[in-house]
Amino acid sequence: TNTAPVLTAEALTAGYHGVVAVTDVNLSVSAGEVLSILGPNGAGKTTTLLSLAGVLPTMSGRVTILGEPVDSRRPYRMARRGMRFVPDDRGLFPSMTVGEHLRLARRRPDKHREHSVLERFPALAKLRSRTVGLLSGGEQQMLAIAVALLAEPRLLMVDEMSLGLAPMIVEQMLPAIRDLARAEGIAVVLVEQHVGLALAVSDRAMVLNHGRVVLEGQAGALLRERDRVESAYFGAG
Ligand code: ATP
Repeated sequence: TNTAPVLTAEALTAGYHGVVAVTDVNLSVSAGEVLSILGPNGAGKTTTLLSLAGVLPTMSGRVTILGEPVDSRRPYRMARRGMRFVPDDRGLFPSMTVGEHLRLARRRPDKHREHSVLERFPALAKLRSRTVGLLSGGEQQMLAIAVALLAEPRLLMVDEMSLGLAPMIVEQMLPAIRDLARAEGIAVVLVEQHVGLALAVSDRAMVLNHGRVVLEGQAGALLRERDRVESAYFGAG
């Protein structure tokens, strides 16, 4: 069956230069499912995502993507398995055009696929000949997500997509990601500051505080119990 999780983490502990930043994170994300990682500044969200993506080596614990252990020494293996990671600085090439990015991102010359991705981000379609360095923050973020989606990922991880973006843009982009995840069975992990918007498009969410998971559950339940989410932000530690 294909109900096996796309991404799992067991007792994940990670940090920098021997100093622990996140401890004992357990999670699993299945095809078509959206998981949000929430929490205040410095809680360890980015560190968690970097370890899940194999960008940062784990200190202990185990991460698997499609059943294969993530090995930070071999990032291309994860990419080949369909993992795409969109960092918070977006990872684009400022002097290249939008069209050049889209062309390089396609796994095969598939106009139809490009069309179906661009349909979700109509603003991009009009900007093909624009140099990326001249795009607004929101346009760059749309491009970064479109580039990741064109590769037909099985797993998409996005770090602080909403960073520096107008809420209106975030309100367009998060549902677009959720819809594509559902339609194409992509497992998605979002690190988000906008708690309400993130919960509204997620299936499940976890709140990190001081490097530990202090609350997790179905996104709908957490939306109805915002006071619990708030105390997880400000309370534990
Ligand atoms: P924010 O929302 O502010 O980005 P975050 O939840 O993503 O926060 P992390 O960036 O994962 O938090 O940081 C977790 C902890 O690890 C913090 O104490 C931070 O100072 C520390 N940290 C992050 N990056 C590094 C680094 N490159 N070297 C050393 N320590 C780091």
